[in-house]
Amino acid sequence: MSKMIEKTYKAQIKSIDHERHRVVVLVSDASLDRDLEVIVPRAWEKRLDYYRQHPILLSSHDYSDLRKQIGKAINTWVDNKGLWQEFEYFVGEGNSEADWAWKLAEKGIAAYSVGFISHKAVTKFDDEYKDLIDNLIREGIITEDQKPLRVFLDVELLETSQVLVPANRNAIQRAINGEDPIAKDIAQKIKEEIMNKQQENWVAIPYSRHGDVPKADEDTRWDGPGEVAAADVEDLKMMCLFEDKNNLDIKAGYKGPHHLHQRPYRVVWNGVRAAMAALLGARGGFANIPEDEKKKAYNHLVKHYQQFDKEPPELREYTEEELKEMFPEFYKQKDNEKSFEEVLGKIAESYLHIAESLNSIKQQLDDISKSINDIKQAIRDFSAKQAEHEANAGQEKSYIELILNEIEEQNKMLREVFK
Ligand SMILES: [Zn+2]
Repeated sequence: MSKMIEKTYKAQIKSIDHERHRVVVLVSDASLDRDLEVIVPRAWEKRLDYYRQHPILLSSHDYSDLRKQIGKAINTWVDNKGLWQEFEYFVGEGNSEADWAWKLAEKGIAAYSVGFISHKAVTKFDDEYKDLIDNLIREGIITEDQKPLRVFLDVELLETSQVLVPANRNAIQRAINGEDPIAKDIAQKIKEEIMNKQQENWVAIPYSRHGDVPKADEDTRWDGPGEVAAADVEDLKMMCLFEDKNNLDIKAGYKGPHHLHQRPYRVVWNGVRAAMAALLGARGGFANIPEDEKKKAYNHLVKHYQQFDKEPPELREYTEEELKEMFPEFYKQKDNEKSFEEVLGKIAESYLHIAESLNSIKQQLDDISKSINDIKQAIRDFSAKQAEHEANAGQEKSYIELILNEIEEQNKMLREVFK
């Protein structure tokens, strides 16, 4: 049995029936995904009846708990766009996960993930690849700029899941900090959804809360996102500059970290500078914070400046140019991030080139092995001819011997005659 493959697509919700808790969704299309793979729509068709016998909608591919079944597919079909499903959610039946999942689907911020096994796929290294791609382009299933590494031609749908249905807000934050771009995007939208419902209430955390904590070495590198990721909510209360009084129980309710995440929460000079830069408006600054709270936060940071014997900048409006001059390191960092993305893009590109080169090497190897076969055949022919030739040569030799013998006989006879 092949391994189950999971692929996640951002939901393209076609229609919503609010009364019957139903959505029609394109759960898988023929687009090139981040593994550079494509599922051809008709690949689903052949084996869909197996799925239709047990068409459950799961939460997050989790079979461990009955409550993870949040609904069922009442309709599943394929057209040239991809695999479509109409789901009915089990809303208001005592399963809060189903209720929450429905809420997200209703808002169009759900993602669906298909779990399937592959029965036939063609990769870049297969002989039929080129013809297949030409056909798919001709049929309009993929575009010319798509160069899939693998094309699935026959797959069996095992289950569909709505993924990322976090029951708590820290799970949403984890998804935002995580690496899955789809989960990230959706989690961000869910967070906004939650945040919109609640009035934010940002206040400065007073310096007196952590008091004169020890300093880290002045040249200690500062990794704000890393420190926040490693911290829990209780740590953030001791690390940051602002807290949101309406969201004190979640990590998103804290801003402006500048202390290390472990006791004794040492203060980091480069973190203090980063927080000051943001407070003065660098790189967009802190959003949604009232002016008087900014002033209190400024006083907090000034105390840290004094700890490090530094002169704090004035609290006033600065132009982007001034800020760039005062805090060049944060702007440079931004450039680095950009170039990192460029590098990633280049790596992906090179990868495709390598795949192409491998393909052409494979072609050459095929040619070489064909040539070797030709040479082998030629040697076989040659040795056969040689053997024949040798046999003939042997015969020729005996002819000559016969002739010589004959001549000798004649000679003898002649000598007899003229004796
Ligand atoms: Zn502090």
